[in-house]
Formats: sequence, structure tokens, C-alpha cells
Amino acid sequence: MAQLLANDPKRSSWIPVSNQSDFPIQNLPFGVFIADDDIITTGTRIGNTVIDLSVLQQLGYFNGIDLPDDVFLQDNLNDFIALGRPTWRAVRNRLAELFDENNETLKSNTHHQNKALFLIEQVQMLMPVFVSDYTDFYSSIEHATNVGKMFRDPDNALLPNWKHIPVGYHGRSSSIVISGVDLHRPKGQRMAPGADAPTFGPSVRMDFELEMAFITGEGKALGHRIKAEEADEYIFGMVVFNDWSARDIQKWEYVPLGPFLGKSFGSSMSPWIVTMDALEPYKVAGPLQDVKVLPYLETTGENNYDIKLEVELTPEGKSGTVISRSNYKYMYWNQRQQLAHHTVNGCNINAGDMMASGTISGPTKDSYGSMLELSWSGKEPITLDTGDTRTFIEDNDRVTMRGWCDNGSIRIGFGEVSTTVLPAIQD
Ligand code: MN
Repeated sequence: MAQLLANDPKRSSWIPVSNQSDFPIQNLPFGVFIADDDIITTGTRIGNTVIDLSVLQQLGYFNGIDLPDDVFLQDNLNDFIALGRPTWRAVRNRLAELFDENNETLKSNTHHQNKALFLIEQVQMLMPVFVSDYTDFYSSIEHATNVGKMFRDPDNALLPNWKHIPVGYHGRSSSIVISGVDLHRPKGQRMAPGADAPTFGPSVRMDFELEMAFITGEGKALGHRIKAEEADEYIFGMVVFNDWSARDIQKWEYVPLGPFLGKSFGSSMSPWIVTMDALEPYKVAGPLQDVKVLPYLETTGENNYDIKLEVELTPEGKSGTVISRSNYKYMYWNQRQQLAHHTVNGCNINAGDMMASGTISGPTKDSYGSMLELSWSGKEPITLDTGDTRTFIEDNDRVTMRGWCDNGSIRIGFGEVSTTVLPAIQD
């Protein structure tokens, strides 16, 4: 397999990039956008410049890489992702060469630049993949422990299966939306504390879940599993993911079959898929797994990633407050284990499937990844910098999540997923 040439920390680009940008030439994420010309296409990004990959292909800049015609002139990345890891890597390496400050080929061709390059303000980002299946795990031990303490038994917060199985459920893929698509407060049934019958109405416990999701490549045929040690070949990249949750609806409905309408009204994701290759320099060891797992879940080496995460809450017309700072490295179960478990029964996966981590809470209260935990089930309101208090999300609040890696040498980021919660639709 080709080397990770695109990760060379010494490389800089002839496209300007600020020090604080999430998108240096070492990132080269993949996304889908529409520009003034009304053509939907796939692209990458350096600094605040968006690069049309279909135009680069037409102009011959990917010659020598085995790519189908028009693989980039698509309204999603699924066909490209299905080509597999060697192709993802070859394209990223070619982009790194092409935009290297010492390469004059495109740098000196303003005619081609005018065709292929856009400023971020000139484009609208769209869903980068068609998600045929969405799975949500529950892999943060801090989150699972907090929820168990609140809703079950503080002395036995984790259920007996939790350290043996990367617990998950099948979510709703049709309602996954991109950053900037606002969502209405969901309506549903909830059982008020002490009441003897449920009521119907807008959720009164609207919550976010700070998560990340990985996007899979094309899997194996139905019946065949992906082993933990080969999982990296089947994971394309990651996004920041807000798995919205209506806690009152969820609490009433979830026994015995799990989450349903409390979750399916919407999930939000950041628009740029950062490849696992780009994240390679930020690998770290995960937490100690103190219960021996079955052999199919055993992994060795560094399988977690040091990805800094934050959640900002912005009331309508006011300034925002960062209410949580967490990190993806806290995850108890890693992606290899999640994918190995997901497929161990022979379940197939497709290019573009979305697998979310579960709420990523850290060990301290300021690192909790949901309002449920930050306000401890509504008992301890949090105070924003504006003086406003919150237990859950109110109408017209905006929730913005950001993720980035920074090892003191190169910063690689995901941008943000930002969503306003609109009032429930009256009908
Ligand atoms: Mn979730």
C-alpha cells in the first residue's frame, strides 16, 4: 500500500491556511457541495478554499489512479468510498502533491484554478454520503455509568453485559441531516413523574448527545464478518455527530426494545469527512479494559484517537457559552471492536454506513456530553455566560459541536456541526 505521503508535517500549501484552521494540507477531508453554478459535486478543502474533485479529474490531475469516469461528479461520496482504502489514499496523496507549495503545475495555472477552486463562502455544503444504515453505540463508560446512576442503581450503574459487548442499536438513517439544517422540537408521549397516564406534546427534555461517527467502506457479503484486526481497511473517516435525544419520550418508550421516537426525529453531522489516514498521527491508547473480552473483540496497539471536543450553547440573539469539553480518547470500546462486533453475526455493511460512538463523556462534570448529565437529570441547572440557566435545550437555542486534533505540530479539525432547535410544529 502507498505510504501516507499526505501526512508529511513539513509540507505546506500554495493555498493560504491560517494557523488556527482545521484544514491544513495534511487534512484533505472529503465532502459534497453545491456552488453558484448549481452543480452538485464532491470536493476537498484546504484553509478556506474548497476544491472541486470532479473538475480536477476532468483536467487530468488524477491520471494514473484507477478511477471510474465521473466518480467525483456525484451527489454523494458512496461510489468513491466503495473503491477502497488504497484508492482513498492514492487520491489524498495526489492532492497533497498537487497543492504542495513547491509544485508549480496547478499553482501557475490560474485558468484551471478558476474552474476548480471556490471560497468556502461561495458554496453550500451538502450531505457527503447517502446513509443506508445508521448504528449508534454506547461506548463511553463515563456516560453509561452516569445514565445508570440516574435511572437505575448507583451501586450497579453498568449493566452486566456492558464490559463484554459494545452495546448498540440500529438508528434512523433517513433523518440524519447536515450542519445548518435546523430541527423542530419533536412531539410525542411522555409519562410525567407520579402520573398514572401518559400525555402528548412537545418534548420538555430536549437534549443533544456529543458523539463522533465513523463512515464505513464497502463490507463483505452477507454472512461474512470483518475481524477486529482488518477493521481499518473498512473505515473511511469520521465526522462530529449530534445524536439529538428527547429524554422524556425516550424514558417512557425505551423498555423493552430500546430507543425509538425519542431519537429518530433527527441527528446532525459535520459536513467534512476526515479520513482515518489523516487522523493516524493522533492515535493514543484507550482506557484499560479491566474485564477480559472474548477473543473476537481483542485488539492490540493504539486504537483510540486524541480528538478534542467541545459543545457550545447559544441562546437566541445572545453570545455562546462552551458548556462541555470532552475528548474522543475516553471511549472504552474502540472502532475496531465496534465493527468486529457489529459484523460478527454475519451482518453486512455498505459504503457510507454511519456508526456513531455514543455520547462521549469524560471523567469530570465539565466534560459530560449531554444536558442530561450536565444538569444531572434536570436537578442542577447550568448557568451560561449570559446569566441564562438551562436544564435542557430551549426553543431557538443553537447547539454547536466542534472537534479537532492538535499535537503541537499540526492541527487537524472537523469544522463544526451547528443546529438551531426550532419550536415544535403546531398541527
Ligand atoms: Mn446516541
